[in-house]
Amino acid sequence: MTLPAAFLAAVARLIPPQRRFDDPLSTLAFGTDASFYRLIPQLVIRVESEEEVQQLLQLANQQHVAVTFRAAGTSLSGQAVSDSVLLVLGDHWNGREIRQDGAQIRLQPGVIGAAANAALAPYQRKIGPDPASINACKIGGIVANNASGMCCGTAQNSYHTLAGMRLLLADGTLLDSEDPTSVARFRQEKAGLLAELAELGRQTRANQALAERIRHKYRLKNTTGLALNALVDFDDPLDILCHLMVGSEGILGFISAVTYHTVPDYPHKASALVVFPDVESCCRAVTALKPQPVSAVELLDRRSLRSVQEKPGMPAWVAALSEQACALLIESRAASASLLQEQLAQINAVLGQFPQERQVAFSSDPAVYNLLWKIRKDTFPAVGAVRRTGTTVIIEDVTFPIERLAEGVNQLLALFDKHAYHEAIIFGHALEGNLHFVFTQGFEDPAQVARYEAFMQDVAQLVAVDFGGSLKAEHGTGRNMAPFVELEWGQDAYQLMWQIKALLDPHGILNPDVQLSRDPQIHLKHLKPLPAADELVDKCIECGFCEPVCPSHGLTLSPRQRIVVWRDIQARERAGENTQALRQAYQHHGLDTCAATGLCAQRCPVGINTGDLVRKLRAQRARHGALAHRLGAQLPALLRAARLALRLADGTRRLLGTPRMARLMRRLHQASGQRLPLWTPAMPQAASPLRLDSQPLPDARPRVVYFAACVSQAMGPSASDGERQPLHEKTRALLEKAGYQVIHLASPDSLCCGQPWQSKGYFSEAQVQRQRLLDALLQASRGGLDPIYCDTSPCTLRLLQDHPDPRLDIYEPVRFIQQHLLPRLEITPQTEPVAVHVTCSTQHLGQAEALLDIARRCSTQVIIPEGIHCCGFAGDKGFTTPQLNAHALRNLQQAVQHCSEGLSTSRTCEIGLSQHGGIDYHSVVYLLDRVSRARAKVPQL
Ligand SMILES: Cc1cc2nc3c(=O)[nH]c(=O)nc-3n(C[C@H](O)[C@H](O)[C@H](O)COP(=O)(O)OP(=O)(O)OC[C@H]3O[C@@H](n4cnc5c(N)ncnc54)[C@H](O)[C@@H]3O)c2cc1C
Ligand code: SF4
Ligand code: SF4
Repeated sequence: MTLPAAFLAAVARLIPPQRRFDDPLSTLAFGTDASFYRLIPQLVIRVESEEEVQQLLQLANQQHVAVTFRAAGTSLSGQAVSDSVLLVLGDHWNGREIRQDGAQIRLQPGVIGAAANAALAPYQRKIGPDPASINACKIGGIVANNASGMCCGTAQNSYHTLAGMRLLLADGTLLDSEDPTSVARFRQEKAGLLAELAELGRQTRANQALAERIRHKYRLKNTTGLALNALVDFDDPLDILCHLMVGSEGILGFISAVTYHTVPDYPHKASALVVFPDVESCCRAVTALKPQPVSAVELLDRRSLRSVQEKPGMPAWVAALSEQACALLIESRAASASLLQEQLAQINAVLGQFPQERQVAFSSDPAVYNLLWKIRKDTFPAVGAVRRTGTTVIIEDVTFPIERLAEGVNQLLALFDKHAYHEAIIFGHALEGNLHFVFTQGFEDPAQVARYEAFMQDVAQLVAVDFGGSLKAEHGTGRNMAPFVELEWGQDAYQLMWQIKALLDPHGILNPDVQLSRDPQIHLKHLKPLPAADELVDKCIECGFCEPVCPSHGLTLSPRQRIVVWRDIQARERAGENTQALRQAYQHHGLDTCAATGLCAQRCPVGINTGDLVRKLRAQRARHGALAHRLGAQLPALLRAARLALRLADGTRRLLGTPRMARLMRRLHQASGQRLPLWTPAMPQAASPLRLDSQPLPDARPRVVYFAACVSQAMGPSASDGERQPLHEKTRALLEKAGYQVIHLASPDSLCCGQPWQSKGYFSEAQVQRQRLLDALLQASRGGLDPIYCDTSPCTLRLLQDHPDPRLDIYEPVRFIQQHLLPRLEITPQTEPVAVHVTCSTQHLGQAEALLDIARRCSTQVIIPEGIHCCGFAGDKGFTTPQLNAHALRNLQQAVQHCSEGLSTSRTCEIGLSQHGGIDYHSVVYLLDRVSRARAKVPQL
């Protein structure tokens, strides 16, 4: 149904155009969640306040327009997509309030689950729900899906830990269950509705058979259909209403805030992997472990173990396990180390009663612990990564009664064989009988769809009817299981759900066909195509885990959306369609506004770096190869020109004054179509050239080859920075203070790592530059005898990528400081708070924690701004596409307002950070030098 003109006109009056999207690229990009369904919305609105949602709901209700809410879009069952109006949570839903020393937390729906836990960490508390997607998914989706995970079970899910809720009904009526005025008003305004809810509750409790079935079904994990347990657990219709909202997948109302009772987050933990010879003994062990002090018991069938057995670091014996083997990954947590030991002894005594094939004993050692959990976490992506291009990976989510778990596993395995899903694996939260099975599925021809349909019919019969289990335990019903809700629940319970829906959403505007649908084929419609696009991204499962770290997410496209749109362009072109308009829009949204620093890869379960795709596409359009080559040959002149330009700019600034200069340069930048770099007050002044020693004289000090990157050779501190020395001078001073003899390259101004060429797609020139530098470093380090210190993280990363000569021992600042300088320096930390920005490269190099450690040694107060990952400056994008940098750092200033300075390891990133943070950012080297002195006696290294 097309959207009524009156609705569109009213929306246009309410929402500014930059938050309304109806163009083909945006609607396509928003048409995807993590499920295998796709619907293209006619209108996407980024909502920023409760009042907006309220008014939009009133409009939609009046005009009978369907709306779907979207939090992070990581849902797996098709519940966060719409072909009508999609309301996406914007930036301003991030509020949180910790209460009662962490015993409760009030959260707005846009808070990422992991951020809520980070806020609670100082109190050793966390929220109960613990979906595996917690680093990406948001509270709105967590509550609306009643999401849960490995440790949460049924006791700690949103339903059972709910302390209060603020919600909007379909007609826009507001209820805040924690505000007596709101409650009183709601009781008055909605007396009829509450009376009917109360009556439904009474009838349900009076119907013993139904009430007992409901209680039985919620002893298991269950997210199939609406939360009918609200009707048997509560008398007060307000309680019923708030608890019905949990797991309602946006079909009953909008969740505007929730208050959770939090749960303890015990610091002492240990894990073990126990392999049993068969499924039966494994599942008997699960039953025996149920009353034990275990926090998680994860089952991995032989196929799961096989899917990861070749991964790096995997013990060799995993590959040699018997065909019938089945494993449990067991975790125990405790408030103290001694209690943990007691618990482990108790658990081991139970495990000793069962035959075992192999075991990794309980360990708290992070190396062992992390490896064990990596085995578990890698299983799902492992199937995703080996699937045939064009097919999708499906993860199902069922619960068997725990006492019949072995039978359930074996019958599921038999169904895989029957329907020829030979790649399928089973793993899951065994303590709850909750199993996930993962398989790959093509939807490109009717035969494939028919195979899927037949398989799902068999699964539904097996789980819901033969075993009385749940077809969805944690991922929500969505479109995927909507046709099977009645089969699982029976007619009376199913009718009850429809009654509730009709009561709360009489016009059926909220997320139609999700959870409850009159269409028995809805699970086979709107199946998402995953056409081949580029081998760099073909394994993408569109999970959205990469979105929170992407600087352009919310400005133009996220990594997931870049891939979605590129897939579509490729498919259309193969079909002979004209894609000119889409390609044109993609140039800006997809390519020009990507920082290409690849932070998305850090979060991607299948290891995709969308920046690689972007660079590859840029390379296809890179038309100035000859110029790029000429510039490569002119590095010393370029450096001199850069210094001159900075000097001229600074001279003009002194003449005009900073505010006028900034205004003038902004106008020039805009008038030049963003071709003239944007000058800001945070711009560096020219650095003095490197001071080169003629010929280093041999002395007793250890040597270090210091490579000052081009940016550090050209760019000094900004005019406002209290630090006046350029980085290369400060670094040299620090290295010498620590007792090193500093060796410079013979002509450093003619050497570059090649990064500027690489990011613009001039790959061969980039490679030439890098190789020249590596050759010079090999020579300067006497064939690799001396360590090499590079003062800029992105340049170091570039040098270390693609396996340079193994003789070279190349360090970025953080690793060198930690390994070689800290033991030689005595530090007296300052009390002024400092902000730290960990660059993308530092993260890629695995040095994030080390940088924070150094900062914490230098200052007693270290601030890591939440939600800022890649700063979006990306070498020169901060000059040429400043809106990317501004968007990425839009919340920085508030986060660092009390800091005296900011620390980083990339001079260009520091320009944007200083501008948008309102404090001076510079290398960590400055602070370290300020707070340290040479140790009188250097310990033996
Ligand atoms: C790889 C992978 C692993 C996963 N692992 C788990 C797991 O272990 N456990 C688990 O439970 N889930 C898991 N999920 C599924 C999903 O991540 C979670 O259910 C998550 O809680 C969804 O949150 P979201 O922010 O992405 O919500 P979305 O997908 O955006 O929305 C979820 C539902 O909530 C509705 N909604 C969103 N905001 C509101 C609001 N403010 N008011 C009312 N309704 C709203 C939407 O309309 C939709 O129906 C996984 C997903 C992936 C891709
Ligand atoms: S490379 Fe950076 S900007 Fe580009 S998609 Fe990945 S995270 Fe986003
Ligand atoms: S790129 Fe990776 S993290 Fe991002 S959506 Fe695709 S699979 Fe998920």
